[in-house]
Amino acid sequence: MSLSTPKVGFVSLGCPKASSDAERILTQLRAEGYEISRSYEGSDLVVVNTCGFIDSAVEESLDAIGEALNRNGKVIVTGCLGAKEGVVQSAHPSVLAVTGPHALDEVMTAVHANLPKPHDPYTDLVPPQGIRLTPKHYAYLKISEGCNHRCSFCIIPSMRGDLVSRPIGEVMDEAENLVKAGVSELLVISQDTSAYGVDMKYRSGFWNGRPIKTRMTELVKALSELGVWVRLHYVYPYPHVDEVIPLMADGLVLPYLDVPFQHASPRILKSMKRPASSENNLARIKAWREICPDIAIRSTFITGFPGETEEDFQMLLDFLHEAQLDRVGCFAYSAVDGATANSLPDPVPEELKQERLARFMAVQEAISAEKLSKKIGRIEMVLVDELNGDEAIGRTSADAPEIDGVVYLADADGLQPGDLVEVQITAADGHDLWAAPPEF
Ligand code: SF4
Repeated sequence: MSLSTPKVGFVSLGCPKASSDAERILTQLRAEGYEISRSYEGSDLVVVNTCGFIDSAVEESLDAIGEALNRNGKVIVTGCLGAKEGVVQSAHPSVLAVTGPHALDEVMTAVHANLPKPHDPYTDLVPPQGIRLTPKHYAYLKISEGCNHRCSFCIIPSMRGDLVSRPIGEVMDEAENLVKAGVSELLVISQDTSAYGVDMKYRSGFWNGRPIKTRMTELVKALSELGVWVRLHYVYPYPHVDEVIPLMADGLVLPYLDVPFQHASPRILKSMKRPASSENNLARIKAWREICPDIAIRSTFITGFPGETEEDFQMLLDFLHEAQLDRVGCFAYSAVDGATANSLPDPVPEELKQERLARFMAVQEAISAEKLSKKIGRIEMVLVDELNGDEAIGRTSADAPEIDGVVYLADADGLQPGDLVEVQITAADGHDLWAAPPEF
């Protein structure tokens, strides 16, 4: 790179979906010949990709913008916080430009206006798989943007708009390029993976000259042809989700479903305006396990939603006992600026929200510990994520990176991140597993 190459610093905050936006912007910057700098001082300008979901994320984003302004001075803001009108500008009037999420074109226009692009773009500097923020052996594959639901606690649809699915050919090309670049695990993400293609009326697209419907089941089948781990996130339990369970049983896609149930009381689900809230989720989980006994089900829940009574909460605990979920995240309800749930009556006092959260986690901890202890002695495939001295840290098919547990693998001599190895589970706690090479 020549000394005159314009340099852009990049700070990315927030969820995997925000990272996926960041990857696109970084890829485009590199495609146009910008250099990505790792320091504020070494950059000609800085792009801050923000999160605006909860109050603490807003603060973190505003702090990051402030730091970038202090240390560099030229700052473009993108991401969810940018969609909240006036918030960034009133805290930091000197930012050069503010865009919402999923705004590659606007970000690039702002970059061009403030740091003109080089005359001779080095388009060939970009590897076909783009620039990724995740380790080389796994990658997030965003299949759509926005959401057609209007959950009362969520402001994502007002920030990101209604569902827009990416053409299936484009998604498959990206997935294929990622695999060619060495990716061993694709994590399919969106706001609502089961709804993929609804906005396109499931019309067919083309991949490698072959027609494929823009629909979750067809996408999963096509992805399974790439020969790597495929993991599905944010899947709402609509009836057609049942179609992918046999594919899991046949080993075509990981036996893992991330299904955000959020609650179990019909009254609370209705007031949350949750998708698929009237489905009989326990019956569905039972049927899934009959078809694919090894399926790992992850979910997230909220305690202390406005109007939640002790009876509602008890239903949630009963659901947990019955459902025997494998991985669970839970949050005490926290009001999000602009969410319709803020005007619901009967808010739950903070102390009670926290007390219910603790009771919920104690129940799930015991379930997880028991489920994981049953894995001791089993032979499992583990994807190695990192090395730590003689030990490797990896994951089984039941664990997504960053949110679920890990496997600590002894005697990791010769292993590399991205390797897929057979191990024998030797110990477990409430969250993680320990393993060694199998004894045959
Ligand atoms: S499904 Fe509900 S929680 Fe998820 S993005 Fe859509 S509105 Fe928000």
